[in-house]
Amino acid sequence: MTATGIVGEFLSLKEETDADLLTMQCGDFYEFFAEDAETVGRELDLKVSQKSSHGSSYPMAGVPVDDLTPYLKALVERGYRVAVADQYETDDGHARRISRVVTPGTLLETTDAEAQYLAGVVRAGPEESPTSDPADAEYGLAFADVTTGRFLVTAVESTADAHAELYRFGPVELVPGPAVRNDERFLSRVREDLDATLSLADPDAFAPGRARHTVREQFGAGALESVGVDSDRAVQAAGAVLAYVAETGAGVRESMTRLEAYHAGDHVELDATTQRNLELTETMQGGRSGSLLDTLDHTVTSPGGRLLREWVTRPRRDRDELDRRLDAVEALASAALARERVRDTLDGGYDLERLASRAVSGSADAHALLSVRDTLALLPAVADAIEGTELADSPLAEVIRRPDRETAASLHDELADTLAEDPPKTVTQGGLFRKGYDDELDAIIDDHEAAREWLDTLADREKREHGLSHVTVDRNKTDGYYVQVGKSVADQVPEHYREIKTLKNSKRFVTEELEEREREILRLEEARGDLEYDLFGDLRERVADHAELLQDVGRTLAEIDALASLATHAASQNWVRPELTDPGPLDVTAGRHPVVETTTDFVPNDLRMDRQRGFLIVTGPNMSGKSTYMRQSALIVLLAQIGSFVPADAATVGLVDGIYTRVGALDELAQGRSTFMVEMQELSNILHSATEESLVILDEVGRGTATYDGISIAWAATEYLHNHVRAKTLFATHYHELTGLAEHLDRVHNVHVAADERDGDVTFLRTVEDGATDRSYGIHVADLAGVPGPVVSRARTVLDRLRDEKAVEAKGGGSGEPVQAVFDLSSGQFAGAESDGGQVTEVGGSDAESGGGSDDAPADGPALDPETERVLAELRGTDVNETPPVELMAKVQAWQEELDAE
Ligand code: ADP
Repeated sequence: MTATGIVGEFLSLKEETDADLLTMQCGDFYEFFAEDAETVGRELDLKVSQKSSHGSSYPMAGVPVDDLTPYLKALVERGYRVAVADQYETDDGHARRISRVVTPGTLLETTDAEAQYLAGVVRAGPEESPTSDPADAEYGLAFADVTTGRFLVTAVESTADAHAELYRFGPVELVPGPAVRNDERFLSRVREDLDATLSLADPDAFAPGRARHTVREQFGAGALESVGVDSDRAVQAAGAVLAYVAETGAGVRESMTRLEAYHAGDHVELDATTQRNLELTETMQGGRSGSLLDTLDHTVTSPGGRLLREWVTRPRRDRDELDRRLDAVEALASAALARERVRDTLDGGYDLERLASRAVSGSADAHALLSVRDTLALLPAVADAIEGTELADSPLAEVIRRPDRETAASLHDELADTLAEDPPKTVTQGGLFRKGYDDELDAIIDDHEAAREWLDTLADREKREHGLSHVTVDRNKTDGYYVQVGKSVADQVPEHYREIKTLKNSKRFVTEELEEREREILRLEEARGDLEYDLFGDLRERVADHAELLQDVGRTLAEIDALASLATHAASQNWVRPELTDPGPLDVTAGRHPVVETTTDFVPNDLRMDRQRGFLIVTGPNMSGKSTYMRQSALIVLLAQIGSFVPADAATVGLVDGIYTRVGALDELAQGRSTFMVEMQELSNILHSATEESLVILDEVGRGTATYDGISIAWAATEYLHNHVRAKTLFATHYHELTGLAEHLDRVHNVHVAADERDGDVTFLRTVEDGATDRSYGIHVADLAGVPGPVVSRARTVLDRLRDEKAVEAKGGGSGEPVQAVFDLSSGQFAGAESDGGQVTEVGGSDAESGGGSDDAPADGPALDPETERVLAELRGTDVNETPPVELMAKVQAWQEELDAE
């Protein structure tokens, strides 16, 4: 049965939109019907009633018109896109139409201080992409934050890079282009990494010509060229995002005043995994607390906090910019008083970028404009706090000069001269403006005041003129203005009093004059409300016209806040200014982990890496501090490349082009995040992407598989990184065997986290020293864990034997399978089995540096026991083609028995 009436109208409007929910204005309420009512009832704990409509009954839930915003916000934050149908007047009554769709990425009413990005992602279609492998496809990305007006575009060259950018920005809503839309693999990774609503935009909006047109219309004809966007993909993403914002009807498109293009190459590559591993903005367990950002963030404003987050997730490679930031941080760090004055001044500010967007969308009220006024006032105040102090010679003086201070001052003055100090919350009632702003308004206000004065003095006049003792003048909704006279004197009222109501102790009267004054007051109030509303609209538009200025001022104050935050942290934790070289060594004296040092009595450690010492194998017992050491090293480089001081006594940091990490398969496995496949994908990405200028951190590569697979992969990866990639690499491993590589590969060096063992007790010293650990502490841990004594001592014997032989047998997968190869530690080769041995050495390259030697000749002579050797010799000597199957089976069985008997 089709619904008619109001529910029918609702359902047919719902057909028009692809939003998840629709709400429709019905007089003073916005109503949700049918399934939408049930969803909203469930999500927001809203009362659902039944609406009877033409013989049927439908669930219905409503909210008062003035209260819609918080409900919308709550729904959108739960990931729903909500269409809003407003009621409007027509000649014959009223009608309704969808005026906007509120989505997570276009919601203006957010109270969250974090950026709120809407992202568009476009991939070159197969016809444009020379390879069929989407891993190497070109992507265009656009990020719009309608709440602050930021709009950024970029193009990247691989799927991993596209994911990395998305992870950096953490968009709340994603609009995928045609090729991405159907790529389930891409989208499922997005779902894993981000808490973003996926929304479909009009496919036509992605068409290159149309998209280009949209971008030009928004930012001006030459904008694309002037910021150097030459990727069609980037233009498509940008055009589609703009079109999507317009389509939702939030009225915020104009807030995006400037096209910012960035090249991923300007920043340090940080893939999504690395951002997560280094716990930049949240910890591995989730949550901001304990992350690098959380530790560093002493900003006093939300725009400052947003900018700091941006810096932390987008370290830079541009040395001039970094030196500029470092100069500013240095000045602020050493001038404590001036710094505190700057921060105290900033503390009084509001979020100008967001206020600009609200002015543009027409949702700013008088209080919002007062906030604009108050924040604009900070500009000269902060300038004073900089220009009159030791900070005057620092780059801060330049930062504060960036916005157009004159225009900012005149906008400030206009707002200060115009708006009343304590205006009402609504903009329709009047009371928003100061006197003297507009003659017509002043005349209305004068008349209004005169009429009010007449009313205020009426009671006294009536008492005096008519000798009435108990008289008051008041108003209410039903009676309007009236004169109330006590019952005892009610019969003394003059004749022109007209009685309108009798109460228990009094009577109410009106007079003709009172009614006339009442009409006049109402007329004046309405005229004042209307005029002020118009004037306010004009004022708000003038503010909106200055959106770009407000954004400039907002970003300037944010930058000073972020720099002061870095300085505050540096001063309180005794961090030092890193010396940057490009490229150059990494030389850290007494380095600390920036987060761990705040909660622990931290043991500082040195780190020295350069061309000759480019690859460090880090060994040490479990829990000794290997991961911490490696992460602290990566974080020190990262901090230097955001322009921060670093936790060390001295540091020289050669700038890197990327930081890559593969951390703790086991930790991640425990959290259900990783599989061996993921581990290998990450390793593969590192081997493909890292360059000689990169920093690579590998923690326990190969742990997710059988030991010999693991060692082989770790071994080969080390050789490849050393010989081909030549990135600065820190590799922690519990495969003690790998430490032998230092003898074969000239840039590989061993370091270990020291531990002291006395009387069976291990003390972690946490100091990192040159050389490999002379032992693995795994057996010690087994002992501590209560593994039975005989097992522990047998393990020690086996370990000693293996060490003595300096060889590890590499076996096949299942038990009882024949021995396949011998992994000879002194040569770094697999030996003994033609096929598998050859294959493994090939992975690492048969580079002369890797120890040389041929594939099949064990360099150090046989390492197998004589029993096994005999079986092997027989096996080799058996001609499979010549031996009858039954005999072959018998032979195999005999071999197996011989091997088992060992
Ligand atoms: P590993 O990687 O060797 O298993 P971790 O790096 O995870 O060890 O460190 C183990 C524990 O030791 C952590 O709780 C860490 O906070 C602490 N730790 C690590 N390095 C230091 C240090 N230099 N000073 C003080 N505590 C440290």
